[in-house]
Amino acid sequence: MEGKWSIKHSDNYIFHYIKDSLGEKDIENIINIQEQCNKHISKVLKVSMKGKIKYFLCNSREEVGVSYGDNEPCSGFSRMPNEIWAVYNEKNKCIGYHEDAHIISYNTLGVPESTFIREGLAMYFDRVWFGIDNNFWVHEYLKRNKYVSITDLINNKEFSKYSDILTYPIAGAFTEYLISLFGIERFKGFYVQLSSLRNIGFEKNFKEVFQQSVEEVEEKFKSYILSIRPNDAIEKEIVQYISNF
Ligand SMILES: [Zn+2]
Repeated sequence: MEGKWSIKHSDNYIFHYIKDSLGEKDIENIINIQEQCNKHISKVLKVSMKGKIKYFLCNSREEVGVSYGDNEPCSGFSRMPNEIWAVYNEKNKCIGYHEDAHIISYNTLGVPESTFIREGLAMYFDRVWFGIDNNFWVHEYLKRNKYVSITDLINNKEFSKYSDILTYPIAGAFTEYLISLFGIERFKGFYVQLSSLRNIGFEKNFKEVFQQSVEEVEEKFKSYILSIRPNDAIEKEIVQYISNF
């Protein structure tokens, strides 16, 4: 026990959960899921993070917000060097790949200034937003003229102007496209360069590593996305989510 927390260690985590919570009831299952995520992320990125991740399972979004510091309700966040805070209750189970991908990549590759690339890598591992493939979201944004250009989103101010439902799937789908086209090593080189003193700006680094401009790759990315389409039921669901903006 450490204050209000009960503690359980696994290979790569120190889980903190509250007595008599759902987190306590499901702790073995949560450990299995996170260990699976951790091993997969580390294998794909070919990295090995030193030390364990401290995982805090909270009862409500409000509690997570208090821990973040701004008291704004929030589902989960990661804090350097090795903490993840996440809500875990009947309605909202914020576990899985996302925050772990942040912490593992920050500790082994670096922390790029670009929100687009940081969230892109986490969303690449998530693969889905509300259980729907990143690529399908982007397909619908392109089809319905809601798409926001990557040349805009690489600017952090622009990125924060738009809803997460728009920016996160685009970042994830584009990251998947880069990794499948150029391979993980080159992508990692790009990510590391953006995190380092050699950072000469997103577009210049991009051109240096991939030998093509962001615009050139984005054009091909859009054609690629338009060639993979969701079925009617999924399309309908996406339209319901995005009808408000
Ligand atoms: Zn994130």
